[in-house]
Amino acid sequence: MAAPPPHRIRVVCRLRPADDAAVEVRGASLIVPKNRSVRESRDELPAQGGLRFGVDAVYDQSASQVSVFEGEAAKLVDGVVDGVTGTLLAYGQTGAGKTFTVLGRGGTASGAKYDDRGLVPRCLERLFATAMRKRRSGRVVDVRLSVCEVYNETVVDLLRPPPEKGQPVGLPVVERNGLTEIKGLEKAPVASAADALQLLYDAEINRAVASHAMNCASSRSHLVVTGHVVCSHGEDVTEAKLTIVDLAGAERVNQTQSRDGTATLREAGYINKSLAFLEQVVVALGDDKPRLHIPYRSSKLTHALKDALGGTCRTTLIACVWPSAAQADQTRATLRFAARMGRI
Ligand code: ADP
Ligand code: MG
Repeated sequence: MAAPPPHRIRVVCRLRPADDAAVEVRGASLIVPKNRSVRESRDELPAQGGLRFGVDAVYDQSASQVSVFEGEAAKLVDGVVDGVTGTLLAYGQTGAGKTFTVLGRGGTASGAKYDDRGLVPRCLERLFATAMRKRRSGRVVDVRLSVCEVYNETVVDLLRPPPEKGQPVGLPVVERNGLTEIKGLEKAPVASAADALQLLYDAEINRAVASHAMNCASSRSHLVVTGHVVCSHGEDVTEAKLTIVDLAGAERVNQTQSRDGTATLREAGYINKSLAFLEQVVVALGDDKPRLHIPYRSSKLTHALKDALGGTCRTTLIACVWPSAAQADQTRATLRFAARMGRI
């Protein structure tokens, strides 16, 4: 079997508002203050007053939810209806705006201000609008939704209420007929965007209950929302999915920062590892020298995302940045990760 050609991902950056922003936007580059006089790695170009990081596009503090959706997600949604799998990953330290970008303010709860809705509700709306047009031209379009979280190498189905007592059940990731799936994960049929939003709302409640049982803050788990779309016209059938991931907070937690020194450290270990494995997979997929072995199985996150990365699918990483001066260390770490992921 020949190794597939290199697969590159698109990497963009979004800044959240901050009163004391110390990060400067220059076109598709960010200038971050440096606190050392030496170059820290080859990803950075020394620029006047700071380190320069280039990405494919930057959404600055004033960028609206609509502009991020139109720039990064609309095309992916249309692709999915045409059989091309698309994936959006939100990465960054806690507080950088991942959840705001993915779900929006106030989550998906009804009553959230229209303009504050994030990528997931907007994608669902566009998905159903596109599906409706396809149906009018005689196609059958089947849309299903799944929502899960990955916490400490445990995959929890958020469309099923967690048990009243004890820990939520962890689901295995399995490979069958060359496809990867989370075994037993609910794929709920959805007829409209309103239906899907109701399910997401239920999922948020299940997540809160599960988090409580597992004693984990939502920023410490990866949230994975997937729309599965099968489109058929007679014999002609296409199948694809849109996956949107609100990754766990990428901040490095060390002994001095962790409060109780045990659970938090263990959590931080899992998070750091799963994000490092995500990077390894994306870097391996983008290698100029095609690789036969891609280390998907090294973590639950990468294994669960196997069909959503690489191959013919379109992947975009949104690196979320908190531009305050006090966050400069984390910002540099985030942008270094982004640069490696995008091979920029
Ligand atoms: P994360 O999920 O990365 O931890 P959040 O999405 O929870 O971060 O964002 C932290 C805070 O900043 C929240 O109060 C959120 O509403 C606010 N925020 C983040 N990004 C933006 C933005 N682009 N515009 C306005 N408020 C934002
Ligand atoms: Mg969050």
